[in-house]
Amino acid sequence: MTARPNILLIYTGGTIGMIKDNITGELKSFDFDHLDQHVPELSRLQVQLTSISFPEAIDSSEMNPIHWSSIAKTIFDNYERYDGFVVLHGSDTMAYTASALSFMLENLKKPVILTGSQLPIGTIRTDGKENLITAIEIAAAMDENGVSRVQEVAVYFEYSLYRGNRCSKVSANQFEAFQSPNFPELAIAGVDIDYRIPSYIDSTKQFTISTNFDTRVALLKIFPGMNSKHYSSLFDIENIRAIVLETYGSGNASSDSFFQNQIQNFISEGGIVLNVTQCSSGSVQQGKYQTSSFFQKVGVISGNDMTTEAALAKMMYLLGKETSKQKIEIALRENLRGELSI
Ligand code: ASP
Repeated sequence: MTARPNILLIYTGGTIGMIKDNITGELKSFDFDHLDQHVPELSRLQVQLTSISFPEAIDSSEMNPIHWSSIAKTIFDNYERYDGFVVLHGSDTMAYTASALSFMLENLKKPVILTGSQLPIGTIRTDGKENLITAIEIAAAMDENGVSRVQEVAVYFEYSLYRGNRCSKVSANQFEAFQSPNFPELAIAGVDIDYRIPSYIDSTKQFTISTNFDTRVALLKIFPGMNSKHYSSLFDIENIRAIVLETYGSGNASSDSFFQNQIQNFISEGGIVLNVTQCSSGSVQQGKYQTSSFFQKVGVISGNDMTTEAALAKMMYLLGKETSKQKIEIALRENLRGELSI
């Protein structure tokens, strides 16, 4: 008999781990040690499942880089003992956590699958059971040589497996809550699980983690009529080291001179500006239109087709890891973990 894959389930919180209190009708977290009472199907899976929980289950709106680091450390500390990891997480900020984990976990050769649900696992029509069961199956899946099918951080939701740093939450009420418009699904779950994209790996390198994030980062989504004077405080190098700019279309913005001066001064004082698009698909191409040529001229970095979630996580990760501005700018342009298309 072949050994069953060892899977570690890391429960952080979110809707998936809730049940309805029969008396008050409120949603509350259930004791994760009793997971099999709520999902008895788990005992029929051909895996050896161990679960651990955050000391207190949290709504994913409460997630911050300290929580990201704690998830990454749990994976790192248990890396040799398990074949795969499933992280149960609220869907609201799942794309941020997945992006952050993808940068923190370098040269990952095992699956780290994040999943959650729109309806609590304790409700009749829950999407949580399927998401949980299939996420575990994916985390345990190996090819004929015993090598993990997925060797990266991914999000599994409603029959689709997405690259973690390529997807975004797009619906607050549909079961199909995530999309990855700029990168195809890694796998689709039907009668069989159809693995479509080989994982992003360089198998010769040692698995390592970096858990230091610098949060001196701002996000500025521009809009028609934006009074750039109101946003001056963001361009203060004493408090903010980098700005992710969410621009129109292929990276365009108004040519308002106050706004342009702020950007130019911020960059010359040592700040970094990264340009991503507000569109859910496509990429930034600075210089394509006159309204983006300025960015190219003053050294704004093109975020290419990165999601805002990936751009912010990558920026905080690089600022926390590197001290040289030049190195950070080079790495922002590079494809580190499959987060952008070159
Ligand atoms: N607010 C919840 C959370 O993100 C929603 C969910 O779990 O899907 O934690």
